[in-house]
Amino acid sequence: MVIVGGGGHGLATAYYLATRHGITDVAVVEKGAIGLGNVGRNTTFIRSNYFHPDNIRFYEFSLQLWENLERSLNFNAMVSQRGTLNLFHTEAQRDLFARRANQMRLLGVDAEALGRDAVKALVPLIDLDNGRYPVLGGFLQPRGGTVRHDAVAWGYARGASEAGVDIIEDCEVTGITRSGARVTGVETTRGSIGAETVCLAVAGHSSRLASMAGVTLPIETHVLQAFVTEAVKPVLDVVLTYGPSHFYVSQSDKGGLVYGGALDGYNTYGQRGTLPMAEELAACAVTLMPGLARLKVLRQWGGVMDMTMDGSPLITQTPVDGLILNGGWCYGGFKAIPAGGVTTAHLIAHGSSHPLAAHLGLGRFAAGRTVDERGVGPFPWTH
Ligand SMILES: Cc1cc2nc3c(=O)[nH]c(=O)nc-3n(C[C@H](O)[C@H](O)[C@H](O)COP(=O)(O)OP(=O)(O)OC[C@H]3O[C@@H](n4cnc5c(N)ncnc54)[C@H](O)[C@@H]3O)c2cc1C
Repeated sequence: MVIVGGGGHGLATAYYLATRHGITDVAVVEKGAIGLGNVGRNTTFIRSNYFHPDNIRFYEFSLQLWENLERSLNFNAMVSQRGTLNLFHTEAQRDLFARRANQMRLLGVDAEALGRDAVKALVPLIDLDNGRYPVLGGFLQPRGGTVRHDAVAWGYARGASEAGVDIIEDCEVTGITRSGARVTGVETTRGSIGAETVCLAVAGHSSRLASMAGVTLPIETHVLQAFVTEAVKPVLDVVLTYGPSHFYVSQSDKGGLVYGGALDGYNTYGQRGTLPMAEELAACAVTLMPGLARLKVLRQWGGVMDMTMDGSPLITQTPVDGLILNGGWCYGGFKAIPAGGVTTAHLIAHGSSHPLAAHLGLGRFAAGRTVDERGVGPFPWTH
């Protein structure tokens, strides 16, 4: 079989196909070098603090896999469970977070409510009474945290390769071949490869690749930016999210403040982004923690995001026999890489969904059973 895309999900799928199902006649085909897509461009946060019970179970499974990943791969991925803290700024927001935390706790997942004093004790730099969105409190998932993202790609790639998978770099898929309703292989810049099964794991390029097989997906492509400042001594020991503009920040082990926010809000395949969002996020940073104002931003980049119309991913058969899709990861596919790999490999090996990913099929859009992750209905135009 062929897996298109040497990102986190493609490599993890290959690794679990080989190690859990003994399927090693696998080629991972990557148009550039492995790990240079979103898996190496994200802000490295992991957590399972979702709202929809099926999503909580899926992401919690992933978090548990992260907790043992380094031992399984024998690779240092710098898994750091420093905690993820979501701040709230209105009573309505507090109620929504409380509902989410209660759902999590009912399913045995860790979540704690923090008052203002506890937030201040955890993040001394914070200005609780900032003039824009004063902080009323927060919800902490102590087991959330960060993982060195490049190491995830390298660790899974090494594991897959040692188990017998071929990883082919600088090889772009330019076409998907079919015989009637069945996939028969891929055309690439280095020749054609016949395959009984083709799995797309191409993140922001999902719709483009699927269209090569005549499949239209409910996925739009958008750019999401990230930023890192110069390094300073330890000032922030938690992953922090702040309501305005979806702003979030953590401190890397090298000392830089790594932060990001919402999509720029226009369709593109460019990995760049625009200045208004850069300005908006810098404003969030200094509003929340005025002490950051003198830091210089060292680097900025963008990633091409695969946004579904209900905010949840797709691990699914497609209308073309033998064509499998892993995509639609929206803002949060990094944390999902271990679970995405296990459940996609299961779907390929058994021909049926893994129980933890049964709600992530393509059919949910046709059937009107979208996954209402935010509890407010799907609002695709806000993407
Ligand atoms: C700025 C930013 C911050 C983020 N922060 C977080 C976060 O903190 N936590 C979190 O959970 N998620 C985060 N994400 C999302 C997460 O990074 C992605 O959802 C996830 O990495 C996508 O899956 P992937 O790793 O398989 O994708 P990718 O690494 O993008 O892999 C897809 C691969 O497919 C290849 N490809 C594309 N077209 C072709 C073709 N025609 N032929 C061959 N190969 C092809 C690409 O080159 C790429 O290597 C963030 C994303 C960005 C951009």
